Amino acid sequence: MRLIVSIADDQAEAVIASAQSALQTGADLVELRLDQAAPDQVDALVTAATELPRGRWIATLRSEEEGGRCTRSANDRRAILLRAAVSGAGYIDVERRDAAAPFWHDGELGDAGLIVSQHCLEGIPVNPAGILRQLRELRGNVHGAAKLAWACRDIAENLTALDLMRGVPGERIVIAMGEKGVISRVLARKCGAFGTFCAPDDGPATAAGQVTVGAMLEDLGWVGQTANTQLFGVIGSPIAHSMSPAIFNAQFRKAAANAVYLPLRVDSERELRGFLEGCRSRPWLNARGFSVTVPHKHAALGVAGQLADPLTRRIGAANTLDFMEDGIAAYNTDYAGALGAIAAGMGVAEDALTGMRVTVLGAGGVARAVVAGLTEKGAKVTIYNRSAPRASALSSDFNCQTGDWDDRQRHNGELLINCTSLGMQPAVEETPMSPEGLRRDLAVFDTVYNPRETRLLRLARAAGCRTIDGVAMFVQQAAAQYLLWMSRVPDTELFERIVSDRLGSARRTGGQGE
Ligand code: NAP
Repeated sequence: MRLIVSIADDQAEAVIASAQSALQTGADLVELRLDQAAPDQVDALVTAATELPRGRWIATLRSEEEGGRCTRSANDRRAILLRAAVSGAGYIDVERRDAAAPFWHDGELGDAGLIVSQHCLEGIPVNPAGILRQLRELRGNVHGAAKLAWACRDIAENLTALDLMRGVPGERIVIAMGEKGVISRVLARKCGAFGTFCAPDDGPATAAGQVTVGAMLEDLGWVGQTANTQLFGVIGSPIAHSMSPAIFNAQFRKAAANAVYLPLRVDSERELRGFLEGCRSRPWLNARGFSVTVPHKHAALGVAGQLADPLTRRIGAANTLDFMEDGIAAYNTDYAGALGAIAAGMGVAEDALTGMRVTVLGAGGVARAVVAGLTEKGAKVTIYNRSAPRASALSSDFNCQTGDWDDRQRHNGELLINCTSLGMQPAVEETPMSPEGLRRDLAVFDTVYNPRETRLLRLARAAGCRTIDGVAMFVQQAAAQYLLWMSRVPDTELFERIVSDRLGSARRTGGQGE
């Protein structure tokens, strides 16, 4: 099982430096994308590649038709690849059309093997298993692998890619390309593939969806991946900037768990349902649980049906899916995360919320979970929301009061919670409450965590209020997910450290006014 780092630069010297660094980091092979080198650098690159360990590099001249930059004639392509083969390449990548009219004779490839490849930029081909078999046949008796890649349009195509890697005989690489295809890249080892392609730590990815070699080795436990590796992830759209993969993978590595947690881009409810059904019908996949974020929290609840936890049903949104023997259960851990953050930030037990006057700003998904938690503990909640009907609906579901959004400065809460998106990146100068509504004896909790230090929290501290930031809730809701899936308490300080590093700000949770 080979970890292959694909390297592209227009200068030969830079490619070789990056290749050496990738091999030192732990790559098994490096792919030199000759098609990405400046035309006058290609010969120099093949010559310089002899400095690399023999057999540890792949020479690739990807054509424009298959997503590369090579516009050379067939004869030129063949001459360059044959030269690479006798210069110490471990493999040469030959696209199907060139392999179909073989240009090599017995012995002409030296020790080099062949990767016979096809890249379908228009999407998944009709008969991928048949194509893989043809690619295998074109290799003849030369060692190497068949490689089939396509532009991934639906996350369930990853499961097809994994099926092909497990089921089709012969060495093979199958890639669902693009942001949605990360599972096919990361779980290649679990499925017995020839290898997987990833990006260098010090340069650009050559294809969307590639993970860096460092992340594969350090964060995703590539070396320890086995057929039993469990799959977790966070489902949403957009999802690329989620901090959840960083915290869960760090915890899995710390706990020596054989598991990966991936960002899973899903754009529609239909796609969500298809993917979850596909996971359920493949027990070997070991899909164990998924976090769910915007815009699928409501749909996730529907997927679970009767297996949704009763309070989660009342909230009307699930952020956690847990794979059970008889179906997929749904939970909402934002609720527990918010209560935990409030109690820790105020330095009280959760029961101290009983009878407390709480002002909630907002009536969206997070507000529903927060209000559910507060009313469960017996707090007296008043909801202010820009759209009054939404505030009324939430207050009647959980039996609390509402106030007019324009009167929110006159609230009488002891605890104020912002559940609106006001103040969130990029509109960081917005605040849902002006200084008139912030008194010294008030505690202020902002669920927004990016930025960590919101304008509301700055104003609150200036007014002498105790403040609680959204990172505490994010960490606690993630910890509750980990507990549900793994029946173990994670290291929340590790979570907190990673989130703080990512947000690039100092710890301020629970701080009294400065
Ligand atoms: P949502 O369902 O879309 O609700 C957004 C809320 O913000 C609604 O109440 C909306 O009011 C209000 N709002 C939006 N723009 C506004 C404006 N210009 N003026 C006044 N009100 C405005 O979103 P959500 O899922 O509840 O998320 C809300 C926030 O919670 C997010 O921004 C995120 O930062 C935070 N969050 C934190 C965590 C955590 O773990 N700390 C987790 C998830 C989310 P209308 O009803 O009038 O539209």
